[in-house]
Amino acid sequence: MKAKKYNFCAGPSTLPKEVFEQLSKAVVDYNHLGLSILEISHRSDAFLEILHKTQNMVKELMQISDDYSVLFLHGGASLEFLLVPFNLMKIGGSAAYLDTGRWSFKAMQEAENLGNVNIVASSKDKNYNYIPKNYSVSNDQDYFHCTTNNTIYGTQMNEFPDIDIPMVSDMSSDIFSRQLDFNKFDLIYAGAQKNIGTAGCTLVAVKNSILGKTGRKIPSMLNYQVHIKNGSLSNTPAVFAVYTAYLNLNWLKNKGGISGIEKENNLKSSFLYEEIDRNPFFEGTANKEDRSKMNVTFKLKNTDKEQLFEELCDAAGISAIKGHRSVGGYRASIYNAMPFEGVEVLVDTLKKFEKKIK
Ligand SMILES: *Cc1c(COP(=O)(O)O)cnc(C)c1O
Repeated sequence: MKAKKYNFCAGPSTLPKEVFEQLSKAVVDYNHLGLSILEISHRSDAFLEILHKTQNMVKELMQISDDYSVLFLHGGASLEFLLVPFNLMKIGGSAAYLDTGRWSFKAMQEAENLGNVNIVASSKDKNYNYIPKNYSVSNDQDYFHCTTNNTIYGTQMNEFPDIDIPMVSDMSSDIFSRQLDFNKFDLIYAGAQKNIGTAGCTLVAVKNSILGKTGRKIPSMLNYQVHIKNGSLSNTPAVFAVYTAYLNLNWLKNKGGISGIEKENNLKSSFLYEEIDRNPFFEGTANKEDRSKMNVTFKLKNTDKEQLFEELCDAAGISAIKGHRSVGGYRASIYNAMPFEGVEVLVDTLKKFEKKIK
């Protein structure tokens, strides 16, 4: 077997070693049932227990009240871009969107299919390298939508507006990474393949009281109330992906939950940013005060030397460090499961590069 690489991919992301090991056992024989996790019925007691425990763990970790329903749906965060307006936008209605990057832009495009989109602020003028501030959200909108962490540009929101309309957030790339007052968000969604588990299911936590108010006819598979009524079992759920979420959130709980992992995430990100700022050959691409603790974007001041840097990364077992094509340079995605040691290896590689060039 080849040595395990450090996976800095923006998604699918790395998972804790013990989760990979538990998963591989469960694929052969789940819990000594003589059946693989891939073949057990989604109506079996074994799976219902996994599903309910995972839903409860989500509530416990985020400390959200019983007003919330927790769902695991198909279609990725991208399908939620459409479900959100379907379920929250009134006929002929309008919703407020904060435009902080490609994902929030895509969310707006889907909402435009159903009603008016009111862009409260945008950072497009600087290729989304900052988070707009001092915008206002009018209370005559059906809801306000924002992306808490901008995976591609490496920016993250730290402040959220005080509003009287539902606040909806795409937290795909920073959910469970830091403490927030999650009860302030009426609808939270996140694709699983970054900080939750593996691709195939999308977490939705929604306050029941905001649903059923649009007067719109909603196709059943797009209707949150239908999914809630069916206990997230309207059709066959992604059993393996939900089980992965179960194992990974259990791992997180054992690490002290969100407050525990937040300390590690602060250490990892500041260690890497310090080196990017110190090293004369590199620079960060995001506005300093808006820097993401999950996706660290940076580039070489002299792009002619990219090949040398990439060779050093390869030799160190660093995988998927290339930036998104719309930003260029590099992106180190250091989600919850990236060990500190992985960040140390990357920092060492930046230092090695400096020595070679000098
Ligand atoms: C990755 C990502 C998405 C897309 O997720 P899919 O599950 O692939 O649809 C949406 N929003 C954000 C912020 C992301 O990071």
